[in-house]
Amino acid sequence: STARIPELNRNDELEELALSFNMMLDRMQKYIEQQKQFVSDVSHELRTPVAVIEGHLSMLKRWGKDDPQILEESIDASISEAERMKHLIQEMLDLTRAEQISVHYPNAISEPMEVLTRVVGDMGMVHPDFKIGLEVEDLDPDTKIQIYQGHLEQILIILIDNGIKYSTDRKEILVSAGQSGQEMQIVVQDYGEGISDEDKKKIFNRFYRVDKARTREKGGNGLGLSIAQKLVESYHGTIDVESVLGQGSQFRITFPVLTDEDVKRLEKRQEE
Ligand code: ADP
Repeated sequence: STARIPELNRNDELEELALSFNMMLDRMQKYIEQQKQFVSDVSHELRTPVAVIEGHLSMLKRWGKDDPQILEESIDASISEAERMKHLIQEMLDLTRAEQISVHYPNAISEPMEVLTRVVGDMGMVHPDFKIGLEVEDLDPDTKIQIYQGHLEQILIILIDNGIKYSTDRKEILVSAGQSGQEMQIVVQDYGEGISDEDKKKIFNRFYRVDKARTREKGGNGLGLSIAQKLVESYHGTIDVESVLGQGSQFRITFPVLTDEDVKRLEKRQEE
């Protein structure tokens, strides 16, 4: 007997098939649209630094030979603009990677207490003019979560860095960590400029900056929070923000805590 396509003998089966087919098409269409949008956003973001460098090069060509000050300033400005572009490209790569499941380490285990202590200590050394504190409530030093350590560090650095970038006169960041049941939370609190309700909805969108001109001065590309969100969510965590304009912001992340059995299972898989 020859292979046959199973007969669709009921009308509702056909309907179901059509429905799921259309759903698949819609999803693909949406994905293609998102990719197109990303390419268009990226081109737009790269155009600015390239235009700035081009401007300085024209100045150099025209006046650089006669005016040592222009020579000096244009070269410095071009270098710093090229550095900014390098940083932007690195962040775009980080974002693309954070979106790819394959780069996540499904069997990775981190001890948040250890990572928090180290990152908060390091950030304090890099920013001696800031008081960066760590407050731990009910978090066991042995508590383990399922995340690659480098990714947890990256998330924390993005949040603390933002607290510093958007600070006002109170140069203080408080990182606190705690655990309730099978969930642990990390909160990064700053006392800076805060975020309006309108902007709160958009800050996790890639390339979104509340004040484009001003954040550009601070080196912001509007990608940090998108990277943090993609990373947190890919490890089954959550991230959200509370903020009062003019008073400060509070970014809160949560992760499921691993049980002893989970840890054993993951360690066994690491060995395989
Ligand atoms: P950027 O690299 O520009 O900081 P992010 O994605 O990290 O990009 O943040 C997006 C925007 O959200 C920032 O440009 C800034 O306007 C706002 N923002 C982020 N964190 C804070 C914060 N702690 N306080 C005030 N505004 C913030």
